[in-house]
Amino acid sequence: MSVVKTCRGTGTGSKTLGICRWRAFTLVELLVVVAILGILAALMMPALSSAKAKASSISCLNRVRQLGLSLILYSDDFEGQYPPRRQSTNTWPYRLQPYYRDAKMLECTSDSFSWLLPMIAPDMKLMLRRSFVINGFNDWFQSDLTASNYQAFLAWQWPQGMKAAAIPNPTETIVFGEKRKGSYHVHMDFSQGQAGNDVEEIDQARHASGANKAGGSNFAFADGSARFLKFGRSTTPENLWAVRDEWRRAPVRQVIGAP
Ligand SMILES: [Zn+2]
Repeated sequence: MSVVKTCRGTGTGSKTLGICRWRAFTLVELLVVVAILGILAALMMPALSSAKAKASSISCLNRVRQLGLSLILYSDDFEGQYPPRRQSTNTWPYRLQPYYRDAKMLECTSDSFSWLLPMIAPDMKLMLRRSFVINGFNDWFQSDLTASNYQAFLAWQWPQGMKAAAIPNPTETIVFGEKRKGSYHVHMDFSQGQAGNDVEEIDQARHASGANKAGGSNFAFADGSARFLKFGRSTTPENLWAVRDEWRRAPVRQVIGAP
């Protein structure tokens, strides 16, 4: 009988089942169990990390949607205008805070920040712990303002914001997007950098998932909706940051080696 054989050599002389069940693992058995657990963990890791990335992307999408809704509430209270382009504690993260309330809404769950920065400048926390930029609507201001007023606008001195009603297609016009890690830009400006902020400052692939890892990122739209767009889809075939038709159709200047 196997029980007898198992108990032989234990030194107890007992042949009862109760004692034999407590026989210790041998080293070889233990190593086999550890190896099997290791293989199982290795098999499950990709599925787990993929599920974690997906959950993070959905959480981020909910946050940028809250920002989009806060923009609508703000414009309702300010005669239909979005926050004007101003600096420091007058920027949109501060102006919209009474509407989105929780500062966590400014942070993508896949982004990370140095905890030192808000300690250095506590009143700038909303600017420093922030993953999103607002549309600067450069194309609209450039066509609507005189040349000198447009320069004042670019210098954060123009007191008016764009009216929400100026957007002909709110369901297809981006108001918030995810900025690349480490960027301190506040607005998405067509007129900055070599290719414009939509190429150089927006992280279009923060949430990589799927087999090809091409990824995409989350955007809020002027109608209060939010959605995930695959890499490049925010600017091609139509530039969803633009208000005016000629800008929506203009080819985006890709810069090789752009950050
Ligand atoms: Zn995100």
